[in-house]
Amino acid sequence: MNEHHEKLTDARREIDLLDQDLIRLLKQRIDAIERVGACKNDEDIHVFDPIREAAVVQAWSTASEESGLSPIFTKRILKEILDHSRRRQESRVVSTATRTVRVGYQGTRASYSELAAEKMFSARDETCRAIGYETFEYVFDALDRGDIEYALVPAENSLVGGVHAVSDLLVSREVAVLDEEIWSIRHCLAMLPGTSIGSLREVRSHPVALGQCRKALRELRLQVVEDFDTAGAAETLKASGDASIGVICSREAADLHGLHVYSEDVTDNLPNETRFLLIGSQAEEIVRGVAVKTTITFAVDDRCGALADCLGVFANHAINLTRLESRPNPGSPWECLFLADIEASRQDQSVQEALREIRPFVNFVRVLGTYPSRRPIGAPTRPAAKVHARPIDRNATPRPATHVPAPNTRCVSVGGVPIGGEQFTLILGPCAVESEQQIDDAAALVKAHGAHLMRGGAFKPRSSPHSFQGLGFAGLEMLAKVGGKYGMPVVTEVLRSEDVARIAERADMLQVGARNMQNFALLKQLGQIRRPVLLKRGMSATLKELLQAAEYILDGGNQRVILCERGIRTFETATRNTLDISAVPVLKNETDLPVIVDPSHAAGVRHLVVPLALAAAAAGADGLIIEAHPNPEEALCDENQALTPVELRQLLDGLGPILTAQGRSL
Ligand code: PEP
Ligand code: MN
Repeated sequence: MNEHHEKLTDARREIDLLDQDLIRLLKQRIDAIERVGACKNDEDIHVFDPIREAAVVQAWSTASEESGLSPIFTKRILKEILDHSRRRQESRVVSTATRTVRVGYQGTRASYSELAAEKMFSARDETCRAIGYETFEYVFDALDRGDIEYALVPAENSLVGGVHAVSDLLVSREVAVLDEEIWSIRHCLAMLPGTSIGSLREVRSHPVALGQCRKALRELRLQVVEDFDTAGAAETLKASGDASIGVICSREAADLHGLHVYSEDVTDNLPNETRFLLIGSQAEEIVRGVAVKTTITFAVDDRCGALADCLGVFANHAINLTRLESRPNPGSPWECLFLADIEASRQDQSVQEALREIRPFVNFVRVLGTYPSRRPIGAPTRPAAKVHARPIDRNATPRPATHVPAPNTRCVSVGGVPIGGEQFTLILGPCAVESEQQIDDAAALVKAHGAHLMRGGAFKPRSSPHSFQGLGFAGLEMLAKVGGKYGMPVVTEVLRSEDVARIAERADMLQVGARNMQNFALLKQLGQIRRPVLLKRGMSATLKELLQAAEYILDGGNQRVILCERGIRTFETATRNTLDISAVPVLKNETDLPVIVDPSHAAGVRHLVVPLALAAAAAGADGLIIEAHPNPEEALCDENQALTPVELRQLLDGLGPILTAQGRSL
């Protein structure tokens, strides 16, 4: 017994000494890595050297076999070492000053997200203070408020696929993807110390973790109960003292809460890897010399070939797509939103060209970020510089985005009504929403006169503060209600950036009025939303300025912009404004965005509206936006220019032959 005890103590002493050696050797290895990093930095050499890495893996395997160790086991250790080394070299290249940053994650201490965050930051020149939140939404909210500098969230898992709640936040919030981490998941089955497996009745954990251990749990005949977090379930179990409950969590979480680990790994299929993303509020400088990935999001209409058109653009530029996930677009049923990863940098010329070329095919497109690609050690790899395979034509003339001579106009769908296609689009309605009765009567009137869409201002930009300012959100509600009742999508004006999101929930298209054409904060906000925007020309804006204003929206990601000529200020006083008919062919030549005309605000008086409208159609406009009122004499604004049934009839009669001659229809 005594001799036995002595042997054990000796062996343990030896282990402790060897462990110290291992740590010392690891430290020496990291110091050497930093010297390699410094050399690469000085000579501008890629950090990632696949040939050297493959040689190290091979040498390690051979040495393992020779000493009788399993190369599978030693390669797992090497993977962690190489991964850490690559990042040490990168952080030398980026060279951010050491600072403490707050990193939010979903869950509690020792959840996989927190472990992944700690690993990621162990190689960044930043010290991480990880903060757990109950839901992914709270994590993103905290980032939005500036409570945390970063968020670390799971994006996809090798067994269960995309984490939908995270994808939905990525496509809807203004965030940047900065880095990724591939984490090998090992789910333990843990229980209170001193309890036996026979006493267990149920197992609690995060639904994703439970889903990954289904087979094992079925064999053990345990009932599954969902919890918000793996480590959280461990914490609750410890507090409850209930011997009939087990949890699925990380080894670290079981240790942290003093639980007994019944089984180290109860996952159904291995390997089980989760890809985590580091999210920030702003893009970071792209690290040179490492293989990179870029995450983008885009939305397309429910149209045959829409997705194929987009993917074809990437294929033509030899850009490899490594992930494509589709998500529903809340508020726009059946308009698909996609989240895609490509193996290239957003700075590559091929990517920039591709992003420009897909604009006509998408409703929305945004780059979420370019970041170092973390591949499994030993997986086939290609250095970043070789990614763009198609030779770049140096003689090709660069094409600025809005100055592409566009033979075809892109077709924009507004609540299912196309603008810019074969059909000529009529938008009719009162200047302002005045009451439930008035807007219902107006809807009946314009519907009877062929309106495809209905207009109505709820927020009115009035020259005088004493004039009627609109009914605000109450008016918007009334407009949305009659739009639904009469089957017409609705368009209404937005005056302030802070109202954009709320108006976008109820209106099918948001109008930027003439007075706001250069409200750049408002335009930027409209670049972020998933609703078409009707951009009116400012009353003293040149067409170039109108296109530059449109570019603010397009650059933000929103590709559904419709331009509107509505008359400009000239020396002429016979009309309220001078309708610049030449704007139509000029804009059509300069851009592929649909162009419509508002003759009402140009004319200012009823009897001039129809002739100007017909002129606009003849000049090639894609549609008209015209004011009409059930009782013009009682209208609260722009009463002199509101059409009555008489002029609406004249309008339809006049448009018929003009559109027929153009091969278009109403
Ligand atoms: C309007 O459409 O009601 C309006 C105010 O138009 P504009 O911005 O062109 O004056
Ligand atoms: Mn008006």
